Amino acid sequence: MLINELHSALPDLDIKERWPLAPLCTLHVGGEAEFFAAPDSIEDMRNLFAFVVREKIPFYILGGGSNVLFPDGLIKGIVISTQNLNSFEWRTNITADIDAGFKMPAIMKELREKNLAGLEFMAGIPGTLGGAVMGNAGAGGRGICELVDHVLVVEADGQLKLIDSHEFNFGYRKCSLADEKRIILNVRMTFRKAKHGDKEVLENYLLRRGSQPHGLHNAGCTFKNPEGYSAGKLLDEAGCKNLSFGDAVVSDVHANFILNKGGATADDIIKLIEICARKVFDKTGIKLEPEIKIFAPCSFMCSD
Ligand SMILES: Cc1cc2nc3c(=O)[nH]c(=O)nc-3n(C[C@H](O)[C@H](O)[C@H](O)COP(=O)(O)OP(=O)(O)OC[C@H]3O[C@@H](n4cnc5c(N)ncnc54)[C@H](O)[C@@H]3O)c2cc1C
Repeated sequence: MLINELHSALPDLDIKERWPLAPLCTLHVGGEAEFFAAPDSIEDMRNLFAFVVREKIPFYILGGGSNVLFPDGLIKGIVISTQNLNSFEWRTNITADIDAGFKMPAIMKELREKNLAGLEFMAGIPGTLGGAVMGNAGAGGRGICELVDHVLVVEADGQLKLIDSHEFNFGYRKCSLADEKRIILNVRMTFRKAKHGDKEVLENYLLRRGSQPHGLHNAGCTFKNPEGYSAGKLLDEAGCKNLSFGDAVVSDVHANFILNKGGATADDIIKLIEICARKVFDKTGIKLEPEIKIFAPCSFMCSD
């Protein structure tokens, strides 16, 4: 793929070459994207995506980078970031159309200012709205998709489509919107008026986060909880706390967090993930499934 082809097909788009990804990911690892673009309009996003799919260019969608792991070295293809899609428009006093690149903490702030509630369980979760909806992010048995009315997406053929919440399924850290090649552009959400007790619920969620590791780069929980089990407990009981590989280490506070001590590579983290998954499997026969989206070839024994 030549940069000239991209430039001549999409002359108005700022397309970067060899763009470092580590600063865009909360784990602070990963190499360089061969090409990188962050369109700031739905039309540009649509044109770019249609071109990329048509030309069979490998692509990766990047939101806030708080749940992804890119490989080291040069990543062939294009990384498409939603970071410049960030408008927020109230449609009624409780319903808003929010761009996919809008940051979760900023949404929480909007709700606080308007005395609205419904997303207490998202307190302290980083990243963008698009990333949250794609993985049905949440806590305490709740997930963000519960509050979604519809999503505006661009499909692989370049068509825009409104998908009503009745048309997709979601469950624990999964959403069927992710089953197809598409980019979430905008999400309509309905909240509710805050009532007595909501603030305490939110503070409780934040309090629970106090028991998670702080200070070192990470991407939240490494593995999903297998049904009926806590991944953190399984990892702890398999002796994973404090295990390390290179500059990647399993937190001694919460065994489901892998931390970058500063100089970790993506390879270090992948190796450590594999070691942890193997230890749990050897002890319990349970195959852990990564919660982090790993955009790198790896020989997982923890997923099929
Ligand atoms: C300290 C910490 C705590 C965390 N705690 C929690 C928690 O309690 N609960 C929880 O669920 N998660 C948690 N996470 C993980 C993460 O914050 C969430 O999964 C978040 O919603 C990911 O959003 P993002 O924008 O960063 O997505 P990214 O990491 O950028 O992307 C995640 C996936 O979504 C895709 N994607 C992103 N945006 C779009 C889009 N617009 N269209 C299509 N695909 C898209 C990407 O391709 C990728 O596959 C935590 C992370 C950290 C660092």
